[in-house]
Amino acid sequence: MATNNNRYGLQRVRLDLDTARADLYGPNLIVPRDLVPSASDPIFNSDMTKHEEVSSTDTSPINTPMPHPPQVTSDDFALAFDIDGVLIKGGEPIPSAVDAMKYINGENEYGCKVPYIFLTNGGGKTEKERCLDLSRQLDLNVDPGQFICGHTPMRDMAERYHTVLVVGGEGEKCRVVAEGYGFKDVITPGDIIKTRHDTTPFRKLTDEEHGNSRLLDLDKVRIEAIFVFADSRDWAGDQQIILDCLMTKDGWLNTRSETFTEGPPVFFSHTDVVWSTSHEHSRLGMGALRASLEAVYTALTGKDLNTVAFGKPQIGTYEFATRLLQKWRKDSCGIDKSPSTVYFIGDTPESDIRGTNEFNKTTENDWFSILVKTGVYQDGAVPRYPPRKTCDNVFDAVKFAIEREHRKTSKGTTVSELDFDTSQEVPN
Ligand SMILES: [Mg+2]
Repeated sequence: MATNNNRYGLQRVRLDLDTARADLYGPNLIVPRDLVPSASDPIFNSDMTKHEEVSSTDTSPINTPMPHPPQVTSDDFALAFDIDGVLIKGGEPIPSAVDAMKYINGENEYGCKVPYIFLTNGGGKTEKERCLDLSRQLDLNVDPGQFICGHTPMRDMAERYHTVLVVGGEGEKCRVVAEGYGFKDVITPGDIIKTRHDTTPFRKLTDEEHGNSRLLDLDKVRIEAIFVFADSRDWAGDQQIILDCLMTKDGWLNTRSETFTEGPPVFFSHTDVVWSTSHEHSRLGMGALRASLEAVYTALTGKDLNTVAFGKPQIGTYEFATRLLQKWRKDSCGIDKSPSTVYFIGDTPESDIRGTNEFNKTTENDWFSILVKTGVYQDGAVPRYPPRKTCDNVFDAVKFAIEREHRKTSKGTTVSELDFDTSQEVPN
């Protein structure tokens, strides 16, 4: 019988009922491990179709060619993806992305499915809306239960702050997101400009913005906290309004502090200075606005501005991701334990790789950083935060992860034999 006992730990096999998969994983059945094929099986060199139904009562020995590899959902490792520069660029899927998602959903030589989540610093829409976009772009079903964007952890702040200034994004979208998180009184820069149009001398509201914005009684508004949910569409106007709030006495809009130490806290959903778009060079992101705001505040007041950031590389975001992954694996796959390894695939050394490496020092399970060359990181550069593995693209990255797991638990493989996987491969 089988000799390859440990591969993927406790095996869960999904009868391949629906490859179109409205449900990512469907019902799971625990089957004998010896029904799980290994990479050395002759089946992997055959031309046979991968998605035909197998019986959980099939007792064929493992070393006999299996006509139909079973669908196995790994419970011992998982994947986490950054989105921009890894899967999507300029609103379009990166060429290897669709194949990569098919690969981890079972279209691989191991018949293996791997649970995964998405962890992006982007935002500006509800999680549900963003998942619909991603589902369309990648031709698969992405559930909000497997998705975190930069502002998702801000949800937890809604109980603490009642009246908040929300900055960034298109139109009213971020107000909608914030209200959806439970914030009771959400004010936008548009509200302040509509109420007092000389707040921003060079910015006029469009008719639509004017219609959507709300008139305020500025004497009665106290901003308790400022949240930059998404990238600002008007740096000058938004910075002016944020600075006005920061220089108030305790957030009361029609006041001005004498000490410049009494303003409300300001939170950013991430700190990426640049991000990857369809342009051949990376574009300025929210981290650049943050740096600018801090510099201008110091120039105006002589005081330092302490801002708070969510998103990668903040450890709190990875802790949030750990809880999400645990819930997602339990809800969608019935797996009620932590994965031994989580492979994080990203394109930005300063956020994706730094965050993964630093979080890995704090956790019992292994968070393994993989850098791809399709986004911010450019081939030939030396990343400031080195990954444990560099791959050309996301397809190569997922293939590497699954093959590494296979090698890790194949009979006779020792830790030293895996060293090649964990060596630094970043070009000098
Ligand atoms: Mg990215």
